[in-house]
Amino acid sequence: MKTIEQALTWAVTELADPEIDIVNRSDTPLLDAQVLLAHVLGESRTYLLAFSEVKVSASNMAEFESLISRRRQGHPVAYLLGEKEFWSLTFYTGASTLIPRADTERLVEVTLETLPETASLSVADLGTGTGAVAIALATERRCWKLFAVEKSPDALVLAEKNIARHQVVNVKPVLSDWLSDFEDLSLDALVSNPPYIDEMDPHLSQGDVRFEPRTALVADDHGLADFKAIIQQAQRVLKPGGWVFFEHGFEQADELSRLLLAAGYHDIECFNDYAHHPRVTRA
Ligand code: GLN
Repeated sequence: MKTIEQALTWAVTELADPEIDIVNRSDTPLLDAQVLLAHVLGESRTYLLAFSEVKVSASNMAEFESLISRRRQGHPVAYLLGEKEFWSLTFYTGASTLIPRADTERLVEVTLETLPETASLSVADLGTGTGAVAIALATERRCWKLFAVEKSPDALVLAEKNIARHQVVNVKPVLSDWLSDFEDLSLDALVSNPPYIDEMDPHLSQGDVRFEPRTALVADDHGLADFKAIIQQAQRVLKPGGWVFFEHGFEQADELSRLLLAAGYHDIECFNDYAHHPRVTRA
């Protein structure tokens, strides 16, 4: 039987194998191996370091080997685990939604920084997927009313599971294609990380995105089609003086602010992500 340390050494060699096609090869073999082994053992990564000499049972090793083999084929760690951390909360993930990303935490931050903390605002997260953005906002602002809006019924089931997991009673799941099924609502703000990647973008053929739903990633019109649809529909449901917050591609900031200006928005401002790329625009 292998010890924890030996199992990790084996897994890192497997994941860093130069024979693996570059599109499937992990950039973070040690981290992946640790996270997957910790998951199999039901322990933390710290435990792996502290108890590196402990033996891994045959059944745990078999499960670990199967996860490493799927990781070698490129399957995202978040789908192998069925979970991903976002805003220090753990979210169920599944193939029906995008995997929550650290960049999207900027969308949450900018929204929290902009809107008044104490008011009981109505805020819709459009294309909520796992529900990560709506739930993160709801845990920070218990007096806000959040709508987690999603057009995919499978994704909405996942969002509902995450709402239950985090016991956020101020989040209401809504099945709707953007705002088309919203009636007579007056919202204070819209928050969205819509699909915004151009279908020709080479980024789509590498790494985790290959396993994520295209409908959550790709938009027509060089990735701008869904911003246009949301901006157009927002007129019907957003209160005068209401805010919109969008995550977008780092080359889309200028075009998006032109669209917002043309639709009558002002106070348009763009914020960078942690890699210093323009990533979130508010108006
Ligand atoms: N930022 C993500 C990526 O490049 C895409 C998110 C999105 O399309 N909304 O993988």
